[in-house]
Amino acid sequence: MTSTVHVIGAGLAGLAAAIRLCQRGKGVVLHEAAGQAGGRCRSYHDPVLDMVIDNGNHLLLSANDAALSYLGTIGAAAKLVGPAQAEFAFVDVASGKRWTLRINDGRLPWWIFDEQRRVPDTRAADYLSIFRLLWPGSERTICETVKCAGPLYDRLARPLWLAALNTDPKEASARLAAAVTRETLAKGGKACRPLFAPEGLSQAFVESALSFLREHQAKVEFSHRLRALELGQDRVTALDFGDDGRVAVAAGDSVILATPPAVSADLVPGLKTPEKFRAIVNAHFRIEPPPGLAPILGIINGTIEWLFSFKHRLSVTISCADRLLEVPRETLAGQIWQEVAAVAGLTGAMPPWQIVRERRATFAATPAENAKRPGAETAWKNLFLAGDWTNTGLPATIEGAIRSGNRAAGLVSAT
Ligand SMILES: Cc1cc2nc3c(=O)[nH]c(=O)nc-3n(C[C@H](O)[C@H](O)[C@H](O)COP(=O)(O)OP(=O)(O)OC[C@H]3O[C@@H](n4cnc5c(N)ncnc54)[C@H](O)[C@@H]3O)c2cc1C
Repeated sequence: MTSTVHVIGAGLAGLAAAIRLCQRGKGVVLHEAAGQAGGRCRSYHDPVLDMVIDNGNHLLLSANDAALSYLGTIGAAAKLVGPAQAEFAFVDVASGKRWTLRINDGRLPWWIFDEQRRVPDTRAADYLSIFRLLWPGSERTICETVKCAGPLYDRLARPLWLAALNTDPKEASARLAAAVTRETLAKGGKACRPLFAPEGLSQAFVESALSFLREHQAKVEFSHRLRALELGQDRVTALDFGDDGRVAVAAGDSVILATPPAVSADLVPGLKTPEKFRAIVNAHFRIEPPPGLAPILGIINGTIEWLFSFKHRLSVTISCADRLLEVPRETLAGQIWQEVAAVAGLTGAMPPWQIVRERRATFAATPAENAKRPGAETAWKNLFLAGDWTNTGLPATIEGAIRSGNRAAGLVSAT
């Protein structure tokens, strides 16, 4: 009889693990507590806007090799789109200034010597400060490691690190920022092309993944919440799904726990995990994007940070947005719309809108929380951990989640 791998949690970490295992010919059962897959990276129909939106706008970069390879495997590579070159349009709402950052393809950063390509009001020498981050040495914050002031910081470094770490650079881990910078800016424009899913996250990351799993005879069980792990001395012996039953874990079977940190900490005795989180706020407006508006626009000195143009919709992302959680929805929508209208050159009344606040969008990428991230192996030899919060070396991102799933699948295959 072939062995079975039980994957708990059908977020991207669990999906990636399940896909890898199927590729290696393993029998897979994926158990998901919710009625759908995707976790924090999914689409749904919003009744107010009467359209399908994502739980949050997700930006990837062409450096995200694991994410791109995952999409390639499930036949969804074409679902991510972006410019052919690493170009980022920006507007500063304080000064009204607009520019486009153009990072040349190769590793030699000649773009920093070209006023038409680099950040306005910066000099080539300023960029050395970013590269100083690449060897942070100890568990310090970004702002203890590099100068967090000046046009280069305000207009490039801060937006990049804030988007990637979802944590204010004053308290964010320099080590995690260095990992992101090393894999993106330091590799040149080929690694920095912005990518997003215009037809929605589920179309790109979830639906084709589920088709792939079904085609490979994996079983996917929705509304199947794991309540407890039955643990022997050195292995998991059964999965307890409460009223939904108990599943024995036979000798040779394995379990990958790809649940959020608080859930995993409840299920695994003695497990240390990150415990602090940061919010992300998204605002959506049902309106046709005006012609000429960049598909992704970076905003400096505003409340809004990124403006995405979708079909029939403009959509805003604000990272590390805990300060906005208690602002009344109407007030927040009005304030955000004013900025959107100003940068997109729109007049007229606020169109139909929706605000989505994800309170625990990602773990707080501080040195202290980063130090709490466990590896994939546990004290039980057939139990492995996955999830963007495990120790991937990256902040909580799609890329990190997928790498963690791949890693856990690799460890199962090695047993
Ligand atoms: C608003 C927002 C914006 C973001 N923007 C970006 C971005 O621009 N770029 C980027 O790269 N990343 C972004 N991220 C981060 C990215 O979405 C996550 O890193 C990734 O989706 C995490 O996947 P995961 O599988 O590790 O965890 P999750 O998606 O949390 O998956 C865990 C799964 O486990 C299930 N589960 C929980 N308990 C149980 C149980 N007891 N039994 C069975 N199943 C259970 C959950 O229902 C869930 O499906 C963003 C996240 C949010 C919320």
